Amino acid sequence: MDKVSTRDAAVALDAADILAPLRGEFTLPDGVIYLDGNSLGALPKRTAARVQQTIEGEWGQGLIRSWNDADWIGLAHGIGDAIAELIGARPGEVSVGDSTSVNLFKVLSAATALQKAGAPSRTAIVSERSNFPTDLYIAESIAAASGLKLCLVEADDLADQLNSDVSVLMLTHVNYRSGRRHDMAATSRLAHAAGALVVWDLAHSAGALPVDLHGADADFAVGCGYKYLNGGPGAPAFVWAHPRHTGRMDREGLRQPLSGWLGHAAPFDFTPSYRPAAGIGRFVCGTPPIVAMRALQCGLEVFSEAKVKGGMDALRVKSMALTDLFIERVEQRCAGRGLELVTPRDRAERGSQVSFAHADGYPIMQALIERGVIGDFRAGHAESGEANLLRFGFAPLYTRFVDAWDAAEALADVLESGLWREPRFGRRAAVT
Ligand SMILES: *Cc1c(COP(=O)(O)O)cnc(C)c1O
Repeated sequence: MDKVSTRDAAVALDAADILAPLRGEFTLPDGVIYLDGNSLGALPKRTAARVQQTIEGEWGQGLIRSWNDADWIGLAHGIGDAIAELIGARPGEVSVGDSTSVNLFKVLSAATALQKAGAPSRTAIVSERSNFPTDLYIAESIAAASGLKLCLVEADDLADQLNSDVSVLMLTHVNYRSGRRHDMAATSRLAHAAGALVVWDLAHSAGALPVDLHGADADFAVGCGYKYLNGGPGAPAFVWAHPRHTGRMDREGLRQPLSGWLGHAAPFDFTPSYRPAAGIGRFVCGTPPIVAMRALQCGLEVFSEAKVKGGMDALRVKSMALTDLFIERVEQRCAGRGLELVTPRDRAERGSQVSFAHADGYPIMQALIERGVIGDFRAGHAESGEANLLRFGFAPLYTRFVDAWDAAEALADVLESGLWREPRFGRRAAVT
């Protein structure tokens, strides 16, 4: 893309963008530029009426009959297939429910158990030091319970750490802080060459960029429903396992540890002992949250509308152009103000977010939010050499080029005016 050097040029890009009408599928407040869809996706317009119908019609009138009549019991399968299309999985391979943390517990337990059976000398779970904390906390628990050690390494040192001691490599595809993207195929190949299995967290990938789990020969994956998939706060998460493992788990009797009744081969037989469902079905634990599932289904329907406009490939092209524009404008307009780009400058190496380090990131972001530009702040930790970050997510379904332009102007204004130094911006809220 040529450099966008005027606001009019950004407006013209939106006018020429065939994806632009998809923004009309979302409710977005006036006067707000929303750059936090990487943390909580926007509300699809269709969601409120559909959730209301689910509550008043299906629940209120249909009562328990709706498990069959409204196919509540099949809802997770349909949603799983819609997610499968976005992440390079096949129909029937994705299960939906629980949170990303819980699903990670299931797959990491299953992966380490498979390795324990086939390669008991492997004692390490390897991950990235700056991985999202819940991923590390879950790995800590599993390591402690199964006598493994958790080894945290820097992204650049990964290749050197993959040796005959490694049981499982667990990574988030796009880092939540830096927005740096791992090469999934190359990294999976390295892990397999070392005899390790690889678990991918797609929290910042699903719906943000094309993912090809089969093409990358991945082993397991989990991901989030409330970020780029726009499923609503606390939306159910998803889980995928390569069929070579679900098959092998059958033969060797291995399973994920949360053996709830809806992951049973025949839950309504009500037999006293557990027999896992075939395939990914065994990763289901308890009863699905139907109201939340309905909202997530609405989020995924917008992606199926994007398909005729080029789908994830077209969304990726737009996302890279949006992030390029934002980086370029911020670096030009905010030069000398202490911001440092943390996200890779090479568009191929990043996801759909841009992060800048600044020591005063928290009050700057609060002032920016008051100016109507919503991003978020992620604290750094001196002991791990991490800086305070301002994060900006560019959800390509509903973010415009002019938003990227105007957000950079607003940030420049907050920094130039010193607005952020007002004491009220320094008070930390519970959620940053
Ligand atoms: C957002 C996110 C999660 C969220 O986990 P929950 O269990 O839904 O709270 C997990 N992992 C990563 C990498 C994330 O970005």
